[in-house]
Amino acid sequence: MTAKKQNVFETLSAINVNDHTNEKGGLIKDADITSCRFGMLLVDSRNYVFKDVRWNCLCDCGNSSIISIYRLVSGTFTQSCGCLKAIVTSAKNKKHGMFGTKEYSSYHRMKDRCFDKKNKDYKNYGARGITICDRWLNSFENFYADMGNKPTPKHSIDRIDNDGNYEPSNCRWASNIQQARNKRNNRKITINGVTKIISEWADVYGINGSTIRQRINLGWSEVDAVTKPVIFAGVSR
Ligand SMILES: [Zn+2]
Repeated sequence: MTAKKQNVFETLSAINVNDHTNEKGGLIKDADITSCRFGMLLVDSRNYVFKDVRWNCLCDCGNSSIISIYRLVSGTFTQSCGCLKAIVTSAKNKKHGMFGTKEYSSYHRMKDRCFDKKNKDYKNYGARGITICDRWLNSFENFYADMGNKPTPKHSIDRIDNDGNYEPSNCRWASNIQQARNKRNNRKITINGVTKIISEWADVYGINGSTIRQRINLGWSEVDAVTKPVIFAGVSR
């Protein structure tokens, strides 16, 4: 590297990325960056085909790439021909080999529901205090070891107790139909300060759980639905 180019490189590192000038007020587009290195990219020569200033770069992986000087020195720095991102992705993938699978996407959607305030479902999860156990939080491998394969694409993570967290003892794969049934059956009703799910109240009052649910669907209050005796053909029991 010549002294002049070394100097250019030092000057480039002090570039003001907003006005595209270097510290001496020179324009980036006038800089000669031949032989400069940016991450895996070695600048080979200027490319005159494009109107803006682009440079022919050689990537350490063997590919060549034409990259604008602005991409090289400002904003989101370009560090490779694109292979670097692929390497990072494949390293992630190699770890568990599940990148992009339905289990992997379920895992990440679960995290988004609990922690991403911009997620449309956050209000029903993270905002309600639903969280993810430590064992699963930072390990897809642990999650997958506990949950196993998703039986079909229509299955999703079901929390057995709707107010409970994402953790091995409270989770299973369930179809949408199973989940809807589970939510109905798990509806909690409080009577005189005691809270039980419908099937438990059904046992206490000797009434069918389905009767309680039907009554609620008909608009009865929860307490009436549980406590009012069932009347058969006008005969009260
Ligand atoms: Zn490359």
